[in-house]
Formats: sequence, C-alpha cells, structure tokens
Amino acid sequence: MFNAKAYSAASATSPFASSTIPRRDPTEHDVQIEILFCGICHSDLHYARDEWHSIMPTVYPCVPGHEIVGRVTKVGSAVTKFKPGNLAGVGCLVDSDRTCPHCQAGLEQFCQKQTLTYGSPDKHLGGVTYGGYSDSIVVDERFVLRIPPNLNLAGVAPLHCAGITTYSPMRHWGVTKGKKVGVVGLGGLGHMGVKFAHAFGAHVVVFTTSPGKKEDALRLGADEVVVSRNADEMQKHAGSFDFILDTIAADHDINAYINLLTRDGNLTLVGAPSMPLAVAAFGLLLGRRSLSGSPIGGLPETQEMLDFCGKHNITADVEVIPIQKVNEAYERLLKSDVKYRFVIDMASLKSE
Ligand code: NAP
Ligand code: ZN
Repeated sequence: MFNAKAYSAASATSPFASSTIPRRDPTEHDVQIEILFCGICHSDLHYARDEWHSIMPTVYPCVPGHEIVGRVTKVGSAVTKFKPGNLAGVGCLVDSDRTCPHCQAGLEQFCQKQTLTYGSPDKHLGGVTYGGYSDSIVVDERFVLRIPPNLNLAGVAPLHCAGITTYSPMRHWGVTKGKKVGVVGLGGLGHMGVKFAHAFGAHVVVFTTSPGKKEDALRLGADEVVVSRNADEMQKHAGSFDFILDTIAADHDINAYINLLTRDGNLTLVGAPSMPLAVAAFGLLLGRRSLSGSPIGGLPETQEMLDFCGKHNITADVEVIPIQKVNEAYERLLKSDVKYRFVIDMASLKSE
C-alpha cells in the first residue's frame, strides 16, 4: 500500500481540500497510472453533495473523478496490454464479476457486482474506492483503456464518461445518416452527443436554455439550435425526431421533448436528476414512442469509442483548471457555465 495525493470532500457541504488516500501496490494484473488529467463530470457533483442519497449514498471522505488519463508507471507480472510509459485511461468502472451474462457480453455497465471508480466497496483495501482527483490510481488492466496517440490528452479525459455515455445509446438506437436527432442540454455530455451525432451523419438539433451557446452549438456540429424556453420554436419540431438524447442534470419537463418524437421515436435519458420526472402517458402512447435510459458503456465499446475518436479526431472542448479551482468549478457547473468540460491538470497537485 502507498499514499497518494488527492482532493477529497469530508461531507456534503464541505469544500474539497488536499488530503492523502491509500492505493494498493499493483497485484499481478494491475496497472499503476500517474494521473495527468481528470475531467469533472456533473455526476461527481451529485455524488460529492450526496444528491443521489436514495440510490447511492455517499461515503465520506469522497474522492470523485472518473474521466482519467495518465501514464503507466508500473505493471504487475501478468499484465500484457500495457508497459511503463504507455498512455492509459480509466472511466467509471474499475471491476465487475466478469462472469455474469452482462460481463460475458462486454456490457460490464450492467453487472450487478460492478465496482465503480469511486464510492464502491474496495475489494482490496476495504473502505470505498477513490477516483481520479488524485495523482495516481491502480486498476486491473481489463478496466484500463488504450489512448489513441494523436489526440490532445486533456480533451481525451472526458471521453471516458461524457464520451461513452453519449456514444453508446446513439449506437444502440441506430443514429445514422438520414436520422433527425435532438440533443437536450449543451454541457459536458451534450456537447459530446452533438459531436458524435454529427460524425454519424445525422441531422442534429440542439436544445438549450442558454441562448449564448447558439454559435458554439453550430460550431460543434449542430444543424439547428432551439432555445427550449421558446414554445414557438419548440412547436416547429413537433412529431419529427427519430431520437432525442436528454442530458439535463436537473428537474425539467420531459413531456415537451417526448412530444417532439415521431412515430416509434425514442427519447433516452442520460441525465440523472435526483428527483423523479413526471411523464404524461398520452405523449408516449399516441405515437408508440418510447422512453429509456442508458448508463455509461462497457469496456469493449468504450475502447471502440476511443478508437473512433482517434480516427475522426474527436475530443472534448475543455477548460483546463488547477485542482485548487475545483470548488469554483462546481459552482460554475451549477450555473451551466462551462465550455464544455472542466478538466483538472493534475500537475497542480504536486504543490500541495
Ligand atoms: P453539465 O455539464 O452540467 O451539463 C448539463 C446541461 O444541462 C447544462 O449545461 C445545461 O445546458 C442543461 N441544464 C442544466 N440545468 C438545467 C435546467 N434546470 N433545465 C434545463 N436544462 C438544464 O452536466 P454533465 O456532466 O453533462 O451531466 C449531465 C447529467 O448526466 C448529470 O445528471 C450527470 O449526473 C448525468 N450523467 C449520467 C451518466 C450516465 O451514465 N447516464 C454519465 C455521466 C453523467 P444548456 O445551458 O444548454 O441548457
Ligand atoms: Zn461521469
């Protein structure tokens, strides 16, 4: 065991502060990674503030962070995929039972015994797992991703959650050329959704509450932008979408979007507001429309997404911050004031 530097929160109302956390010495299948960049996902905020208490109560002190890229510093004797010096990535999962039907299908995101990167029971050290707001992490190589060498590293970090969480449902629901696709909310997830839907050849419409994001939405790959608070603008698109991806992190009227779906259209929730959303039955049954959800993605599809990004030169648009600004970044996230993902430069942790 060794001590790693980290930023942790001691309670739902405490700011993040410098601390140390235990990490295991790499066992034979493990990879030790020096973390270079870690994205800040809105899920980190929900978790740190215990907003998902009824589903996943937070254990304090907590160290979030599941959009990790870094360099391998050590490998166990049985590791075959990585060597010291390689780039490596870690997303939301660090383990699973590996034997259930989901794991066998490469869909570890559905494993009932999965270990999340933070906040899950730690099988090795006891306590809970600690995430990427830290200078290092030790992970079984099966849960470590290979990073395409041609991409900007800070912009790659958010692909490990925001990237796969938007890529996976679009692949599942057949987002391709000729489809009309909506992306609701232009934040970390939303802006990646726009990039992927555009890359898959769809006609992309962004729904935003922030008129100031219009230009950016078009630059990111949207064909049209709708300010969702404008009822007339919304009405123009009624009954026309094949697929809508809803990334909103807070309470909102989901029926307004269900009504924009065509016959047999699907709305997938990836945003995870803490309170239930009210759904009007008629919106669904009149058009045989469906409402579904989607969590992150499995390891094979996450690697596929990273390779796709390497081939198509896709990364997140990031604002790189030192870790000392993480509390400020959380306040800005709550105001939808991020273009479009905060990423922590972990070199800033060395001075703590
Ligand atoms: P984010 O960067 O904060 O983006 C959310 C966007 O939603 C905001 O930029 C804003 O876009 C819009 N929004 C925020 N509050 C709103 C409100 N009250 N009404 C309408 N629109 C609002 O967050 P994120 O990191 O993309 O995460 C989004 C959600 O996805 C979070 O709940 C997070 O926990 C969840 N998530 C789920 C998964 C999964 O596996 N399913 C994975 C990661 C994250 P505009 O300014 O354009 O309106
Ligand atoms: Zn996330």
